Amino acid sequence: MSTVGEHGTAVRTQSCPECGEAVPMDARFGAWCDACDWNVDSAATKPGPGRIEALRRRLAQRHGQELLEEMREDTGARPRRDTSSLLAHIIALAVHGFTLALAVVGVLLVVLGWSTVSQPVVGTLLLLLAIGLRPRFAKLPDYGTVLHRPDAPRLFALIDEVAAAVGTTGVHTVVIGPQANASVGTFGVRQRRVLHLGLGLWEILTPQERVALLGHELGHYANGDLRHAKIVGTALSSLSLWCYVLAPTRSPSFLERVANALMSVPRGLAHGLLVLLDHVTLRASQRAEYLADRAASAAASTTAVTALMDRLLVCDTVDTELRRESVTAQTGIGGTKSRGEAWQGLWERLAAHIASVPEREFERLRRAGALRGHSVDSTHPPTHLRRRLVVEGEDLPARVRVDDLTAAAIAAELADPRNRLARTVIRDYAG
Ligand SMILES: [Zn+2]
Ligand SMILES: [Zn+2]
Repeated sequence: MSTVGEHGTAVRTQSCPECGEAVPMDARFGAWCDACDWNVDSAATKPGPGRIEALRRRLAQRHGQELLEEMREDTGARPRRDTSSLLAHIIALAVHGFTLALAVVGVLLVVLGWSTVSQPVVGTLLLLLAIGLRPRFAKLPDYGTVLHRPDAPRLFALIDEVAAAVGTTGVHTVVIGPQANASVGTFGVRQRRVLHLGLGLWEILTPQERVALLGHELGHYANGDLRHAKIVGTALSSLSLWCYVLAPTRSPSFLERVANALMSVPRGLAHGLLVLLDHVTLRASQRAEYLADRAASAAASTTAVTALMDRLLVCDTVDTELRRESVTAQTGIGGTKSRGEAWQGLWERLAAHIASVPEREFERLRRAGALRGHSVDSTHPPTHLRRRLVVEGEDLPARVRVDDLTAAAIAAELADPRNRLARTVIRDYAG
């Protein structure tokens, strides 16, 4: 069977096994049916049979839908400090307050109970516990290439410009890695800002889509998400540690059984707080993603952010493609380049590969996302919903534009990390 395709060329088709409609055959991406969604998500994991799991999925679905409706009505650009966000802060501060109290009691026992034997011992134990539970400052990662302003002045200037457009300031450091992602964070006692840029994503974007990506990431600073994430995130890790410390001993002796019983109340409390804190922050972090998309639209234009959303859909394809390049180079099967030079032009080949993904495949990925719905524990809303909210919003023009000269200058600044990371991908990704 064949029909005439978009460009007037004959497209081979098969008929859909579900509804009989003509379905274009595609050797690269597999066939699927746009009439009945047959094979739209061939890799989908079927939901488990558990009732609890099914309930969690239904709840996640409902909360996701509610949040989307809420975001549609509230078109403001700043995060609302609602009850769940307030509750998250109260729990987090209580957790940190408890750690602080342990430290204070520990010091008092050591200092004031010096004449006794037991009090300094207990005091020291409490102090050690408090030290173990303390909130920690993140460090710069030891992977990837760390760039400072003098290493890439044009890139930093672009970041400054986008930051100003979303209402914040730039970053202290940029860390370039090979993955298909990007994120922002802080490091050190002085809480300096760091932007992580994965070339797997950066290299498949147009200059304006890169502005959109920067707008989204810097939008997280502008909206204060990280400060929020910091207090709550460290409390989450303290609580996880509590749950671990208080976990009951397996196959206990008589005394351990007594200890297990005594610990059941604090254990239940720590576990309950962990579940609650996790639940109330999930919504805030999903809302933060929608708001960061809004900030990105204001900086880079609605069109650029919509295009960025489509690129985010193919991030899995990027990983597969990089692994394929690595395997080809190491086995020598199907490659035209020798192993030593396979890294050359890697990023260009990746960009060309992604650019050749047809619109029909993006449509399939959007539908697959819609079928999968809200995952239960994701900090990000599904990409197709983010895209929908961006498209439905006001059609904003770009406030920051990148001309060809700037794009070329930034590419030149990144030449060194690009080469180095291309070698890393070829060497490591096959494993
Ligand atoms: Zn069909
Ligand atoms: Zn984000």
